[in-house]
Amino acid sequence: LVRLRARLSRSQTTLGKGLLTLLSREHLDDDTWEEIEDTLLTADVGVAPTEELVERLRERVKVLGTRSPDELRGLLREELLRLIGTEADRSVHTESGVGANGEEKPGVVMVVGVNGTGKTTTTGKLARVLVADGKSVVLGAADTFRAAAADQLQTWGERVGARTVRGPEAGDPASVAFDAVKEGIAESADVVLIDTAGRLHTKTGLMDELGKVKRVVEKHGAVDEVLLVLDATTGQNGLVQARVFAEVVDITGIVLTKLDGTAKGGIVVAVQRELKVPVKLVGLGEGADDLAPFEPEAFVDALIG
Ligand code: GDP
Repeated sequence: LVRLRARLSRSQTTLGKGLLTLLSREHLDDDTWEEIEDTLLTADVGVAPTEELVERLRERVKVLGTRSPDELRGLLREELLRLIGTEADRSVHTESGVGANGEEKPGVVMVVGVNGTGKTTTTGKLARVLVADGKSVVLGAADTFRAAAADQLQTWGERVGARTVRGPEAGDPASVAFDAVKEGIAESADVVLIDTAGRLHTKTGLMDELGKVKRVVEKHGAVDEVLLVLDATTGQNGLVQARVFAEVVDITGIVLTKLDGTAKGGIVVAVQRELKVPVKLVGLGEGADDLAPFEPEAFVDALIG
């Protein structure tokens, strides 16, 4: 939690502390409530959730009458948690299963998202977490479009102790993904992580490609997770991207990267509402250890300090 708090320091001062300070004002007049609303909107919580939160806070503060700092903190904590949700299954599923030919099949995770959001980095970090957990991991470099992507992934693989399956440059991403899972089965690996391409300029192209990657991989058996990587610093733009991806493949979890560099932590709320898919992991830096499970309680505590 200390680390999370340090990493989120900017979002914390802007969102959590800002809200608490405003709520502690002696006179909670309309202007103050408007400032509270602005604070939430600036943090990218989104319009509808902001309205909902402010309405509930107003009601509860009225009922409260006198407001001690502890009471306000508790109330804000409860309401933020209510907004984020504490019930969702936030584990990344990597359990092995039964393959198409009855053989044991590794857990298969596809990592999707727009280029530059941190897809390859996230795939590498996730591999590291899994390897540290005693699992054998195969990486599939299905981002054959960006020349450096396969090298970058392979470097991660070498660092964390995972083999990388790659194809020819500009080759067919689906065939690389297929080969990676085939390799995973042959090696009796525990998990196969597939890094995909994320060019967005032609939506149909992306749709065809990602859909095809998934269908082709599924010839080996089920895909267990499709993680959508979103860059928290892109704010509402990220939401637009998220919608496009959700049309293309069934997203099972969201990874919110670059939360270390932004005051826009509220995007956690907005994106979950929008996609109805839980945030499962957060990226808190460029380093190998900077991927953390998303825990609503710890996150909110870090926000409000
Ligand atoms: P991709 O094109 O989606 O595969 O993106 P990359 O994995 O190459 O990442 C793009 C840039 O974002 C790189 O410089 C990464 O080091 C950086 N990056 C990725 N995740 C994070 C994060 O959580 N925090 C910060 N600060 N930078 C990140």
